[in-house]
Amino acid sequence: MPIEPPDRLKKLPPYLFAVVDRMKREQIAKGKDVVDLGVGDPDLPTPKFIIDVLAEAAKDPANHRYALDAGMPALRRSMQSWIQRRYDIELDPDAEILPLLGSKEGLGHLPLAILNPGDISLIPDPCYPVYKSSTLFAGGEAHILPLMESNDYLPDLESIEPQVLDKAKILYLNYPNNPTSAVAPLEFFEEAVAFARKHGLLIAQDAAYSEMGFDGYRAPSILQVDGAKDVAVEFHSLSKTYNMTGWRVAFAAGNREALKLLGKVKANMDSGIFQAVQLAGKAALDEGDVEIERNIKVYEKRRDLVVSAFERLGWHFNAPKATFYCWIPVPPGYTSTELAVMFLEQMNIVVTPGNGFGANGEGYFRISLTVPDARLKEAIKRIEQSHKHLHSK
Ligand SMILES: *Cc1c(COP(=O)(O)O)cnc(C)c1O
Repeated sequence: MPIEPPDRLKKLPPYLFAVVDRMKREQIAKGKDVVDLGVGDPDLPTPKFIIDVLAEAAKDPANHRYALDAGMPALRRSMQSWIQRRYDIELDPDAEILPLLGSKEGLGHLPLAILNPGDISLIPDPCYPVYKSSTLFAGGEAHILPLMESNDYLPDLESIEPQVLDKAKILYLNYPNNPTSAVAPLEFFEEAVAFARKHGLLIAQDAAYSEMGFDGYRAPSILQVDGAKDVAVEFHSLSKTYNMTGWRVAFAAGNREALKLLGKVKANMDSGIFQAVQLAGKAALDEGDVEIERNIKVYEKRRDLVVSAFERLGWHFNAPKATFYCWIPVPPGYTSTELAVMFLEQMNIVVTPGNGFGANGEGYFRISLTVPDARLKEAIKRIEQSHKHLHSK
């Protein structure tokens, strides 16, 4: 029986990575040696001490049952003390911390907890696609805030029309930013908190890359702004920080009303995080600081490899201060998709076309630094070899 997709699925933005995905599969099927700089997923393994905690905890029948959906109190306390240690912020672990099955899950459910049909989410563009799709699933409308290089990829909040603000309920932010790798100064968060207060918005700040800063840069938390808890929730994740993307453990921190509502949605959707994973996540948060520093060094080195190679080619882009992404302008004469197709066809390199993250990503592509150094060097070699006809199109 053919099933007619419901309107909410038909309303999803077009999946613009499809062309590149298909071509990548074709090249691999042909036996080509494809270097995948597309996915933002750490190649380094989860640190051993975290795996050991999981392995031990998995043997204990007490961990085999349904978890408490709001998370083990011990895990919430570790999340709270991690935030305190890192940012010097006091939170109530019972009400201002909510464990999540990955931050994607929390971000994905948030609009169901906050929006009425017809309400507006203010969404940066380009962005992580979940903000838009989850807003649409909740019957909300997405109002795009362009992120422009000329404004350091910060949204221009003051330019939002009053009629839009009247219906707006959520303002999404994501710093350090995927895909642009931009960072936000604390002053921008101060401005955003004041703006949210004035217009009755909830800020959802996605801090998935909070720990990935280079050359000594450490990203601020929006919760460091005075009174931020009144209007903001920040989403933290162990995924990128501790090389734990597959484990599904993260948390939201901040406004207690919002977390209560989100918890209510979740109680009807999931049954919590496997307790052995909760205990492993707790160990990561309690004892993983050294691992973070080690990861940063690895990505810093890879970033320098890419930045210096592109500089040698006269292909300038802003070296990322944070995240494991390079956001690079496409040469004149190409669209983002054409550039990505050309990289695949000529060099067997997968890059992500910027327009897949929203219309304002057109004119850029994203390289992810999550492949071993040797593969990155191989990719650079191929780019250097193809570079001449690349710019002569
Ligand atoms: C990877 C990523 C996430 C999702 O992380 P999980 O905690 O693994 O769900 C969220 N936001 C951004 C911007 C990301 O890049």
